[in-house]
Amino acid sequence: MAAAPLPRVRLPATADQPARDLPAIGQGTWFMGEGLAPRRDEVRALQQGLELGLTLIDTAEMYADGGAEQVVGVALADRRDSAFLVSKVYPWNAGRDSAIAACERSLERLKTDHLDLYLLHWPGNIPLEETLEAFERLRESGKIRRFGVSNFDVDEMAALHALPGGDDCAVNQVLYHLGSRGIEHSLLPWQRDHGIPAMAYCPLAQAGSLRRELLSDPEVLDIAAGLGITPTQLLLAWAIRPVDGRRDVIAIPKATRPEHVEQNAGVLAIQLPDEALARLDAAFPAPERKTPLDIV
Ligand code: NDP
Repeated sequence: MAAAPLPRVRLPATADQPARDLPAIGQGTWFMGEGLAPRRDEVRALQQGLELGLTLIDTAEMYADGGAEQVVGVALADRRDSAFLVSKVYPWNAGRDSAIAACERSLERLKTDHLDLYLLHWPGNIPLEETLEAFERLRESGKIRRFGVSNFDVDEMAALHALPGGDDCAVNQVLYHLGSRGIEHSLLPWQRDHGIPAMAYCPLAQAGSLRRELLSDPEVLDIAAGLGITPTQLLLAWAIRPVDGRRDVIAIPKATRPEHVEQNAGVLAIQLPDEALARLDAAFPAPERKTPLDIV
């Protein structure tokens, strides 16, 4: 029997970029570069993830004040082309000129000449038109390939989409896990209608409602044990499950411990049976009305 294809999410084509398929599990970097773990362990974890197919790496100028980007830069020093590299700009650095300077500082720390995707970290006070103009200039100069946003709720996505160039937004990165399903009410359907995939942050419930309780929930433990997978693998496989036959969520767990990286990469080979999905739905139903966007 042929192996099931690896779960992938398609970023749509833009004016100058072809459509791009990415593995549905990537790697986060929040809290890397803070000295919480030896730098060599963080570098090795990212390289191990790349080797196991977790080719998307998510970072931000915010993390460890640029320290996480430096860790990523070391990890990618001899293998930049094997990664799809994502970084984010602070909202107060997202002006017409300041976003360009912020991106150049990120590139310097990352020791690369381009980002594959550059995100506005959360909505701020600088008019979006200015940020879009900066992103466009960064694209023209080859410093970024695509742009996107993070922590945008549905009204903010609609407002962005209505602006000139706003419809090229590649992704919206938002908090999403089994215990925090608010985006399923209107944000995810809106993004699906507009062909904009989501990147799920805190997919292991490091934050958001229910937080770590999820990983000791009896139903989660029982379903995971029945499938012979870990509770964290169950959470990740759930986050990237296809909806109506289509996958459009990429989960970006952060892991430093080698066994965590290995388990997270193992999720690329897991297909959750319908019965498990139904049990999780019953135990953790999606909200029936609009709820405020969960953020860290
Ligand atoms: P996660 O939900 O990914 O949880 C990370 C924690 O889970 C770490 O303590 C890690 O431990 C642990 N872990 C990872 N894999 C496993 C495993 N297989 N089994 C058990 N424990 C595991 O939370 P994050 O907050 O890090 O979110 C993921 C990423 O999303 C961030 O790193 C960042 O890149 C992005 N993010 C974006 C935000 C935004 O506003 N756009 C906000 C927050 C996050 P260890 O490291 O010891 O292996």
